Amino acid sequence: MKRIKVNALLKTPASGQEVLVKGWVRTKRGNKYVTFIAVNDGSTINNIQVVADMTLFTDEGLRDVTTGASVSVLGTLVESQGKGQTVEIQAKAIEVLGTADPETYPLQKKGHSLEFLREIAHLRPRTNTFGAVLRIRHAMAYAIHRYFNHNGFFYIHTPIITASDAEGAGQMFRVTTLDPINPPRTDEGTPDFSEDFFGRSTNLTVSGQLEGEVCAMALSEIYTFGPTFRAENSNTSRHLAEFWMVEPEMAFYELEDNMDLAEDFLRYLVRYALDHCPDDLQFLNDMYDKELLDRLAFVVENDFQRLTYSEAVAILIDAKQKFEYKVEWGTDLQSEHERYLVEKHFKKPVILTNYPKDIKSFYMKLNDDNQTVRAMDVLFPGIGEIIGGSQREDNYEKLVKRMQEMHIPEKEMSWYLDTRRFGSVPHSGFGLGFERLLLFVTGMGNIRDVIPFPRYPKSADF
Ligand code: ATP
Ligand code: MG
Ligand code: MG
Ligand code: MG
Repeated sequence: MKRIKVNALLKTPASGQEVLVKGWVRTKRGNKYVTFIAVNDGSTINNIQVVADMTLFTDEGLRDVTTGASVSVLGTLVESQGKGQTVEIQAKAIEVLGTADPETYPLQKKGHSLEFLREIAHLRPRTNTFGAVLRIRHAMAYAIHRYFNHNGFFYIHTPIITASDAEGAGQMFRVTTLDPINPPRTDEGTPDFSEDFFGRSTNLTVSGQLEGEVCAMALSEIYTFGPTFRAENSNTSRHLAEFWMVEPEMAFYELEDNMDLAEDFLRYLVRYALDHCPDDLQFLNDMYDKELLDRLAFVVENDFQRLTYSEAVAILIDAKQKFEYKVEWGTDLQSEHERYLVEKHFKKPVILTNYPKDIKSFYMKLNDDNQTVRAMDVLFPGIGEIIGGSQREDNYEKLVKRMQEMHIPEKEMSWYLDTRRFGSVPHSGFGLGFERLLLFVTGMGNIRDVIPFPRYPKSADF
């Protein structure tokens, strides 16, 4: 007999048909007449209730049916009298596939702190919270591909191993084929990793943007969506050492077009979550954050506020609030400043543009004032920066000049410069941190709780 998944089962009208369900036991309770077993198979946050009539079963026979054990249940689907459930299974046979010793299984019925669950990241997908987060994560990844596919963008795979540092922030992990314990040495005897990737110095990518630009200059509209690595030795709730980034790059787009795309894209994703993950979102809303659903609906329904960096700095200098870091024109904004603008001042998502060139990367298009670049950061409540993007510098001479100022070796980047040398066009793009999006959509407070296996300082085992 074919197994039916719980999400399908809960939508099936009960007409006394025989069904086979497999999953993990969440709870078992009852009395000497009847035992109720809640079974979950991960297809939905909801459990199916299995009812064992104790004239057919014995306590001894159900001894191994404990929280965490895996079971296969054959029974009859009937209407349920229980509150909040439409159907239940009258069990005919219950087979324990794998036991879970109640003395040692860590996920007993009581609630667990998110900190504790991080220490058992290999078991936390079995909790309601992480089941919900992982299903939403899946839905968002799917929606990203769907959005771009519908809008004529091509999905491009950019390399993980690369010699270039797109951001110039020096946050790269080296890739080496050399023995790190006993590396080759320079004449002075210091370790020499300069040719560590079969004769070339390489690192893990911090962004697929530069390679993405190359493809946009041929296919017009492309996106990448893959893992990115940054040696962030930081312990913030917004940074991971390994995270996923969505990076569209578009030929013939100016900054305005880039902002329009970012806004439409984010709204589409949030709406998709509301439409396709109602049970999981309702659970997270009730459990952790009573304003989650309202906040998501608000983003779908309202335009984002657009203003320049200079205007934002003026607002922050005038703000009554005390900040930990002082704001003055020319410094990068901290998360506290970004959140003030979004949460206190405008009370809606914000797009900031035209940042000082000195705090942004070399590839952003210089404005006529020679001081600011055509950058845009999208700021969201509870998070701060969720997207960083810009119109790219399309003028060959200006780009070379900027690279020289920033000591970026032209020779190594000649492949990139070729896109401006031959058939250059105005173009733009942005990077959306996938886990930052998930922080917003799930309402979770820590980025380590929206990725199955988070990588952060001292965490890499599983
Ligand atoms: P931040 O200012 O928060 O450190 P950034 O300006 O260094 O971010 P960008 O280089 O603009 O980041 O990268 C594009 C996007 O990738 C960011 O807007 C953010 O959503 C995401 N992002 C950047 N660094 C991380 C990280 N360490 N972990 C998770 N997401 C990140
Ligand atoms: Mg950063
Ligand atoms: Mg930033
Ligand atoms: Mg940025």
